[in-house]
Amino acid sequence: MSSNPSDRQPRFDTLLVANRGEIACRVMATARAMGLKTVAVYSDADEGARHVREADEAIRIGPAPARESYLDVDKVIAAARRSGAGAIHPGYGFLSENEAFVSACEDAGIVFVGPPASSIKAMGDKSAAKARMMDAGVPLVPGYHGDDQDDDLLKREADAIGYPVLLKASAGGGGKGMRVVENADEFQAALDGCRRESRAAFNDDRMLIEKYLTQPRHVEVQVFCDSHGGGVYLFERDCSVQRRHQKVLEEAPAPGMTLQLRQAMGEAAVRAAQEIGYVGAGTVEFLLDASPGQDGSFYFMEMNTRLQVEHPVTEMITGQDLVEWQLRVAMGERLPLSQDELTINGHSFEARLYAEDADQDFLPATGLLSHFSLDLEGASLDPARVRLDSGVESGDMVSMHYDPMLAKLITHGPDRASALATLNRALAALDVRGVVTNRGFLQRLATHPDFQAANLDTRFIERHEDSLF
Ligand code: ADP
Repeated sequence: MSSNPSDRQPRFDTLLVANRGEIACRVMATARAMGLKTVAVYSDADEGARHVREADEAIRIGPAPARESYLDVDKVIAAARRSGAGAIHPGYGFLSENEAFVSACEDAGIVFVGPPASSIKAMGDKSAAKARMMDAGVPLVPGYHGDDQDDDLLKREADAIGYPVLLKASAGGGGKGMRVVENADEFQAALDGCRRESRAAFNDDRMLIEKYLTQPRHVEVQVFCDSHGGGVYLFERDCSVQRRHQKVLEEAPAPGMTLQLRQAMGEAAVRAAQEIGYVGAGTVEFLLDASPGQDGSFYFMEMNTRLQVEHPVTEMITGQDLVEWQLRVAMGERLPLSQDELTINGHSFEARLYAEDADQDFLPATGLLSHFSLDLEGASLDPARVRLDSGVESGDMVSMHYDPMLAKLITHGPDRASALATLNRALAALDVRGVVTNRGFLQRLATHPDFQAANLDTRFIERHEDSLF
């Protein structure tokens, strides 16, 4: 195979979007603006869904369950062949980080809008990824990620790291196979439990151990690499406000960053990506130690090898369209801007609107969305400062088959306080009827004095439970 991307003639004029909901609509909007023909795929549950209505062509790929439709590699590839699509954008979730899918695209001569399969594989296993990152000089949480998995050795390593430690399944994801161990006496029982859980979920019981940070912030860096060796960072996002490891509110830039810290994290993130031959949009997640007196220590956690849900806050502060960057890089072009040409303008927030009932343990809600709108004019909101990325419209059915996220409300302002004030006004102006949403919960979060003061860490919601529920 040639190493010169231009030899592969990757230009394409038809893009298939292998996803649904808001991200499918968002990707197609940019593709259309670039003059590409768009192809949607859909399951029976999504017949007539917004992403289907907005595409130039739509192809049914199976019944409602995702594994028989959106997760079915053969059906998605067949749809691309049938429609003559030269490229597939995977969105996030579904097949976006599936090596086998990327290889299937490569075999079918279809451009996968994302990294090569080898980069996904390199980041897929937590232990292997950490070893690679250590070689690349990317800071890691003190810990053990070796191949030797003998119980006594693991115990000695945990003792040496110092409690509390966090046990994590090497093959893990979604918070599964993860346990905090408070002291040496609890170690063996926790290890047994984690191994059991990991075997059941991933058919793999290798563990790694990390120092457990008691007050970390989740700060992630947006990186971009092209196929000519170019790499840049588009600054960071703070996604510390999480409920059960699920992000709820995100913002960019991260509050309280010094220029040196921003640069150190950005450069470490680009090194991480280049170490694994990365191409396209990626996110390197770090834990930033927010405990008193610990300002500035950051540690690599993992790399997400796709576009993130929260990418719009980065777009708002940089003025760049990340999907356009993805498509141009996939066509073999160089990165549109160099590091020096990228600057931060103002501040941005994103709130994730879910069809779920915050008063009933966040039970997913379903039904007819009888009305869904945001009247910017009526609320005197500046359209340049508010963006609603949505996969639904009034009259749509919300089913139980997929992720319950309905839309993302994104705001911008010259500074954090004004962007947050705009978020609160926009949340209040959302008119949603027919389906229960978490809007009230988002409003309680976004008006919380501690949130307003940017006192952030990953236990924010847990700590403020009394005033949030
Ligand atoms: P998964 O892949 O299962 O989501 P991660 O390794 O990404 O697991 O960790 C999930 C979350 O757990 C992080 O967002 C962070 O909030 C928390 N976490 C991970 N590692 C540590 C650590 N060493 N100390 C404290 N919290 C951690």
